[in-house]
Amino acid sequence: MTQIISGKEISEEIRSELKERVDALREEGGLVPGLAVVLVGEDPASQMYVGMKNRAAEALGIHSRQLTLPADTPEDELLGVVEGLNADPEIHGILVQLPLPDHIDEAKVIEAIDPAKDVDGFHPISVGRLQTGSGDFFAPATPAGVVEMLLRSGHDPAGKHVVVVGRSNIVGKPAAALLLRKAPGGNATVTVAHSRTPDLGAVTRTADILVVAMGRPESIGADMVAEGAVVIDVGTNRVDDASRERGYRVCGDVLFDEVKEKAAAISPVPGGVGPMTITMLLSNTVKSAETAAAEG
Ligand code: NDP
Repeated sequence: MTQIISGKEISEEIRSELKERVDALREEGGLVPGLAVVLVGEDPASQMYVGMKNRAAEALGIHSRQLTLPADTPEDELLGVVEGLNADPEIHGILVQLPLPDHIDEAKVIEAIDPAKDVDGFHPISVGRLQTGSGDFFAPATPAGVVEMLLRSGHDPAGKHVVVVGRSNIVGKPAAALLLRKAPGGNATVTVAHSRTPDLGAVTRTADILVVAMGRPESIGADMVAEGAVVIDVGTNRVDDASRERGYRVCGDVLFDEVKEKAAAISPVPGGVGPMTITMLLSNTVKSAETAAAEG
């Protein structure tokens, strides 16, 4: 029978471990981990994600500070807010919700975050350390969630051929880097495919583990997956569905019903990678607070 890799269940398991670590920090040294989430503008999807992050943080006893700035906030002002958070001892993790309005240089803002508080893992120092394996870093939440799902469901990627479909800076590239690294959760042979890969199916069929992050609804069918493969679907897409009251449904990049008949294990959408992303962000925040506690 096909194993369903539930990100929801794995996420709950990790959150209860995190809660114990948060309790220990408070009881041993009176330290409360602090996460600052900066939102510029009123993008509804961003507002929803930020609300979810806040609620999840508070549920674990993590202090969550939301800073909502108007859409026309000048870049300098945002950089000043980030500087303030860098210097704030109550804050251990800083997240600037992307995308930012067009008049703000995203790279400049990300580079302004202190790498020691870069719980999103997008600062070039974090990215560089992930690539070189030197020094401590925060792994970006979504790809870290993918690795954690594999490990906790009994599919250690070590020695396996992993095909990652997608090469974005937030999912595909860091997922490939984590899976490739000489460290737990890594040691895989990794192939990265993208929109210029001529025969995608020929590549995906060679995967022991297939990680799909394309943003193309239900485009990986059973004919593109090897018998017995492990499939992690990162895709989160809204497609019109008149049969639903809200007029749409959420689906992945993989044709779940079809592929689950062929795969040994598969993650669903929703309930797969989605819940893991916030959990790994909170995990990075707790790790940052523990480092601060150890440094006194
Ligand atoms: P991007 O659009 O930034 O990247 C998509 C990648 O897929 C690109 O590298 C692109 O190639 C590749 N691609 C697109 N079409 C094809 C194709 N036909 N064949 C092969 N490769 C293709 O998306 P993201 O990486 O940001 O996100 C990917 C998916 O993951 C989305 O559905 C997103 O919603 C979801 N997501 C889910 C998260 C979660 O928490 N569950 C978090 C983040 C993302 P090229 O580079 O050549 O353009």
